Amino acid sequence: MYKVPMKDLLYTLSAVTRLKEMQSLGKAEMASDDVITAVLEEAAKLAENSWAPLNTKGDRVPPTIKDKTVSETPGFKDAYQAYVAGGWNALTHDEAYGGQGLPWCLGMAVNEMWQSANLSLSLCPLLTQAGIEAIHSHGSQAQKDLYLAKLISGEWAGTMNLTEPQAGTDLAAIRSVATKDQAGDFYRLRGQKIYITFGDHQMTDNIIHLVLARVDGLPEGNDGLGLFIVPKFLVNADGSLGARNDVYPISLEHKLGIHGSPTCVMAYGDQEGAIAYLIGEAGKGLKYMFTMMNNARISVGLQGVALCERAYQHALAYAKDRVQGFKAGDPSGKRVAIIEHMDVKRMLMTMKAYTAATRALAYYAGSEIDVMHLHPDEEARKKAAVRVDLLTPLVKAWSTDLAVEMASIGVQIHGGMGFVEETGAAQYYRDARILPIYEGTNGIQANDLLFRKILRDKGAGLFAYIVDIAADLDKVAENTNRDIDLLRRYLRHILLDLKNVTEWLLVESKNIDRVAATAVLYLKMLSMIAGGHMMLKLAMHADQHDDAVLAAEKRQLAGYYGAAILPQVKGYVHIIMGGQDSLLSVHADFFDA
Ligand SMILES: Cc1cc2nc3c(=O)[nH]c(=O)nc-3n(C[C@H](O)[C@H](O)[C@H](O)COP(=O)(O)OP(=O)(O)OC[C@H]3O[C@@H](n4cnc5c(N)ncnc54)[C@H](O)[C@@H]3O)c2cc1C
Repeated sequence: MYKVPMKDLLYTLSAVTRLKEMQSLGKAEMASDDVITAVLEEAAKLAENSWAPLNTKGDRVPPTIKDKTVSETPGFKDAYQAYVAGGWNALTHDEAYGGQGLPWCLGMAVNEMWQSANLSLSLCPLLTQAGIEAIHSHGSQAQKDLYLAKLISGEWAGTMNLTEPQAGTDLAAIRSVATKDQAGDFYRLRGQKIYITFGDHQMTDNIIHLVLARVDGLPEGNDGLGLFIVPKFLVNADGSLGARNDVYPISLEHKLGIHGSPTCVMAYGDQEGAIAYLIGEAGKGLKYMFTMMNNARISVGLQGVALCERAYQHALAYAKDRVQGFKAGDPSGKRVAIIEHMDVKRMLMTMKAYTAATRALAYYAGSEIDVMHLHPDEEARKKAAVRVDLLTPLVKAWSTDLAVEMASIGVQIHGGMGFVEETGAAQYYRDARILPIYEGTNGIQANDLLFRKILRDKGAGLFAYIVDIAADLDKVAENTNRDIDLLRRYLRHILLDLKNVTEWLLVESKNIDRVAATAVLYLKMLSMIAGGHMMLKLAMHADQHDDAVLAAEKRQLAGYYGAAILPQVKGYVHIIMGGQDSLLSVHADFFDA
């Protein structure tokens, strides 16, 4: 059963985020240490006692559809309502609309709990959050007044409708179309959307769909798209619910994992046309979507962290319980739990180290989002914005790729019991597999990193990050701890490689194919180095921490990361700078030979 890793969450928040700095600047003053602890402890009760016990049920009793109405997994509604009643949906949102205005990075620690406890159910508030941001950032005052308070409280849920059969990664190919209605200040939207998460359910009275559609009369391509609000039930001026809108779920997908999350095919406007309200300007829909991408992608990266944690806890419990064989070199003949075997320890250590590194990187990125919004100094805000841009694809892609890998190791630790469904280890593996796909596939994250975040500013944001990592390394130059030394030495060495590889790519940047061929490897390389930086920060914080056991653990994990994980980066360096030539000359028909 899932147990919130409270000490780790608190430790990570204080070791890698800038919460303290923001408090001292008079920002985020509500997030005192006492408040943070109280918030996390209260959330943990709901996550452990209400959400987590429903995780297997969501997998085995998935939502159903009848008469264009979806019924969610039994029990999900009560768990969701308890979440709303506790005010959890409002935690980080604008106080002007009933939010609690707490920092984003604290919200991440809380969100990690929901995601670990029940990934499928946690998708509902995650999508609502994206809708809130879209309306908050780009909606008119009237739209904010009508929708935000109920979305922020969680009384209504939100969805994001981008994908169509011919328009997945390529959103410029969207065909759904919205036509301005002569009768009023609205559009009639028609078309079909696929893969819509929580596209319908009975957990809330209303669902506010955010829909990307072509605006009738505008040109083809990105500049012809608009972002629309399409409520399931129309909302009257006084906030009460009106008529049922012409938007319906028409089928549910059968999926590899996250069975508890209804993934809907949605039909818009099959009858009179769905009533849709344009957000901001026509033609700017995609641009608006992109302004929300950082937060959404970091949130999906956090799902990866949450899955790593859950798979680790499951595997650890099994490894302590399962007795097999004898400890190597022990002549007593006493059988031991498999946790005593060195290979099982290696697997657990790898899971624990990656979970710590990805969590720290996600919280660090979340904290930079807070700085980007709240810091009184404009330069500090700008620097944070560049850092968020750089880290976002890493958090999304690295954490989610690792979630699949760690869940697979979790299955391995269970042996045959991992492959059969009974233990639950297989569910994490199946659930994890969607994470590298949605919210922009990880291949697209890598392209985003290299083309937009590295090449476009000629590496300026990356080189500034390297300077910051080097400064942290300087701080531990005299530290004699064996583990810190291991990490320091390897990190310093590999940082030089990162600089060389980046400079080389900047020179090669005209060769688009070469850059594209290396993008995923470059992302992995940079992520592992960023993870090393986070492990260093966690280990450095140990000197100020009262809990000696936890402090020692952080140092030891840092040493393991430095000596057993970071050296893999060297392989990427070689492949990026010389290993792609055979690939570059390949034509598509090569694969038919
Ligand atoms: C369970 C689930 C839930 C989802 N929830 C939602 C939701 O709520 N709302 C929503 O709108 N969508 C949702 N999606 C859709 C999801 O975001 C898309 O599946 C994803 O964006 C990829 O699009 P695609 O499936 O069409 O793959 P494709 O775009 O066809 O990609 C296939 C492969 O080609 C690669 N590829 C494509 N283009 C390029 C390129 N230019 N360069 C390099 N590689 C490329 C991709 O990386 C991928 O490996 C969901 C999907 C699933 C499965």
